[in-house]
Amino acid sequence: MLLTGTPFLFLLPVAKKIIITIDGWSSCGKSTLAKQLAKELGYVYVDSGAMYRAITLYFLRNNVDLGEKKEVKQALKSINLEFIYNAKSNNSEIYLNEENVEYLIRDLIIAEKVSDVAAIKEVREFAVAQQQKMGEKKGIVMDGRDIGTVVFPKAELKIFMTADNAIRVERRFKELYEKNPNITIEEVKNNLEMRDYIDSHREVSPLRQAKDALELDNSNITPQQQLKLALEWASQKIK
Ligand code: C5P
Repeated sequence: MLLTGTPFLFLLPVAKKIIITIDGWSSCGKSTLAKQLAKELGYVYVDSGAMYRAITLYFLRNNVDLGEKKEVKQALKSINLEFIYNAKSNNSEIYLNEENVEYLIRDLIIAEKVSDVAAIKEVREFAVAQQQKMGEKKGIVMDGRDIGTVVFPKAELKIFMTADNAIRVERRFKELYEKNPNITIEEVKNNLEMRDYIDSHREVSPLRQAKDALELDNSNITPQQQLKLALEWASQKIK
């Protein structure tokens, strides 16, 4: 019997969907690689850092005292986070209580507070539960600091990104300078160093390279080269 026509489509092998995690230091190009990979594979991309940034924005606007557990817990109850795809920017943008805050959260004012907020246990529990839900159907690329170690410890492909410090500062400076020409390279350098320190020294889910993560140093390679390498790794896992 000839098996043709759509009724038998379910008999064809379906490409296996996996979870890809990308962790690493601030401004290593994690989101660039994550977006490229998601596009190539037709996967969902989730920027977990945007969630911590949006929570920080809410806390700043509402003067939430980070030392007061009750206040923090109460504030988290009033936060609703959503990613909505914007065809114009070709990006999933983050909404805080139905307000698009994708651009506001990239400000240095947020970057200066976000690591303190992200070190709070209750904040992490709130964000991680939502991140794990987003990965239930697999076919996802998520970048952050604890994605391969805590959020998806069983992910099929884990990438840990690094890059030379001076290169990272330069990259982030260029990005922020476009929006704010008053920014100095010193400010950017101090912010990256401070965030890396807090992120890797906090008690809850500190930034660590998962034992089974593949390391990718992109100091001297182009975005195209890093994509090629990561796609090779992904195709080995998908096979
Ligand atoms: O990735 P991005 O630089 O936007 O993240 C902002 C901050 O959010 C990080 O410096 C870190 O403090 C926190 N973060 C985290 N865990 C994640 C993602 C981000 O603690 N999974």
